[in-house]
Amino acid sequence: MKTALMQLADQVLFQNYGKRDLALVRGEGAYLYDGDGKRYLDFTAGIAVCNLGHAHPGVTEVIERQARTLLHVSNLFLIEGQVALAEKLTRLADRGTGPYLAMFVNTGTEANEGALKLARRYQYVNGHPEKTRVVALPHSFHGRTMGSLSVTSNPKYREGMTPLVPGFEVADTYEGAVEMLDEQTAACIVEVVQGEAGVRPVDQDVLHRLAARAKELGALFIVDEVQTGVGRTGRFFGFEHFDLSPDIITMAKGLGNGIPTGAILAKRHVAEAFTPGMHGSTFGGNPFAMAVANYVVDVVSDPAFLERVRTVGESLRQVLEAHFEGVTGLGLMWGFDVDDAALWRQRAAERGLLVTVCGPKRIRVVPPLIVEDKHIEEFETIVKQMGRAV
Ligand SMILES: *Cc1c(COP(=O)(O)O)cnc(C)c1O
Repeated sequence: MKTALMQLADQVLFQNYGKRDLALVRGEGAYLYDGDGKRYLDFTAGIAVCNLGHAHPGVTEVIERQARTLLHVSNLFLIEGQVALAEKLTRLADRGTGPYLAMFVNTGTEANEGALKLARRYQYVNGHPEKTRVVALPHSFHGRTMGSLSVTSNPKYREGMTPLVPGFEVADTYEGAVEMLDEQTAACIVEVVQGEAGVRPVDQDVLHRLAARAKELGALFIVDEVQTGVGRTGRFFGFEHFDLSPDIITMAKGLGNGIPTGAILAKRHVAEAFTPGMHGSTFGGNPFAMAVANYVVDVVSDPAFLERVRTVGESLRQVLEAHFEGVTGLGLMWGFDVDDAALWRQRAAERGLLVTVCGPKRIRVVPPLIVEDKHIEEFETIVKQMGRAV
C-alpha cells in the first residue's frame, strides 16, 4: 500500500531510484528510526558514508560551531581547513614513495572526473599529447558523470548515454586489462575492493602487474578510494592492504560523514599539471565541509580506531561465513550471496535490519565503523531467523 508521501513522491520526483518504501526520520549511532518510531539496525551507513554513525555528538558539535562561523567563501580565498586536511590526507597517503598534494571536490564522481582530466593533462604537459586512453577493470564502478561513466562497466548505466568519452575503455577480463595498456594510455583506474560489483577484492597480483605495466609505459595508476577510503577496510586507505603506491587517489563517501565532500590526491609532479585555472570547483573544500572532514579524519585515522574496525570486521566476517556462501570483503565492507536479494532486503527491513542490494543475488553490508560486538550479535540474531532463502 502506498502512503501519501509515496504517492506525492511519484508525482514530483524523478523516478530514477526505483521503489523506495521506507522513510527514515531520525538516527542515532548505528540505528535509524522511521516516522512510527520503529528502530532499524543500519548496515548501510548511507552507502558507506556515515562512518561515525548518525547524530555523532562530535560531528554535530563541529557542524554547529562552523555554521555559526563561516559556511562558504569560494576558492578565491585561502581556506585554513583545506590546508589542515590536505596536510593530514597527504601524510596518510605517503608510504615513502614521494609526497602528495590535495585538492577538494564534492562527490565521488567529481573526484574521479578530476583525476581523469589530470591524467590527460599530465601527459599533455609532459610532451605526450598522444597518451589519452584510460583503461578500467571489469565490474568497475567509478560514478555517473560522462568521464567516470565511461570507465564504469555496468551496461545498464551506459545504455542510451552514448557516445561516451572516446579512448576510455573497460576491460573484459582482469588479465585483459593489463594487456590493454599501451603507448597511448594516459592512465588506468582501479578500485582495490569493487564495492558496487558485490564487495570483491581485486587479486593483488593483477593490481601489481597493472601498476608495474603502467609505470613501464609512463601511464598513471589511479586508485578510486571513494568507497574503500577513510577506514572502511580497517586501514585508512584500502590500497594499504595491497602494497600499492598510486599516482592519483580519489576519495569521497566517508570523508564528510554525510556532508558532501571529496578529494583528489596526486603525487606532486602529477598534481603540478593543473596550473591555475585548469580545474576547479565552486563548492569544493568550503570551510563547512572542511571542518567536518578534518574532524572525521582525526577520529578515523587514530590507529586504535582502525584496529577496532579490523577486530569488529573480523567478527562480522565470521558471522557471515557461518550463514552464507560467497562471503567476500575487507574490514567493515562485506558482500554475500542470497537467493533473491531484493526480497532478502525487504524481509530484513521488516525485522529491523537495513542492508543494500548489489546484484540480483548479492547483499552488501557496510555498517558505520563505530559498530560494536553487540551490533554484530543483533545482526546475527536477525540473520539466523532468515537464512539465505528468506
Ligand atoms: C559511490 C562511488 C563512486 C561515485 O560517488 P558519488 O559520490 O556517488 O558520485 C565512485 N567510485 C566508487 C568506488 C564508489 O563506490
